[in-house]
Amino acid sequence: MRNGDKCEFCEGEARPQLLLVRFHFKGQTIYVDNVPAWVCSKCGEQYFDAPVYKRLEEIARHRSRIKKTISFPLAVYSL
Ligand SMILES: [Zn+2]
Repeated sequence: MRNGDKCEFCEGEARPQLLLVRFHFKGQTIYVDNVPAWVCSKCGEQYFDAPVYKRLEEIARHRSRIKKTISFPLAVYSL
């Protein structure tokens, strides 16, 4: 994807942005910050280039190297 490319779902344009991404890998969830992505200026749909996906997998596979752990409250939806 390139700057100004059209979103697949609407007429919005994709803009480069660094995102905090939640990533699932082998049943575990990790968060990766500063991931280069494309975000639709209209609907907010996020796109990742193929090499970025590969890199995310690599990072997840080497998760023992992860130095920082964040914790956050997990609420369960109920009526
Ligand atoms: Zn869009």
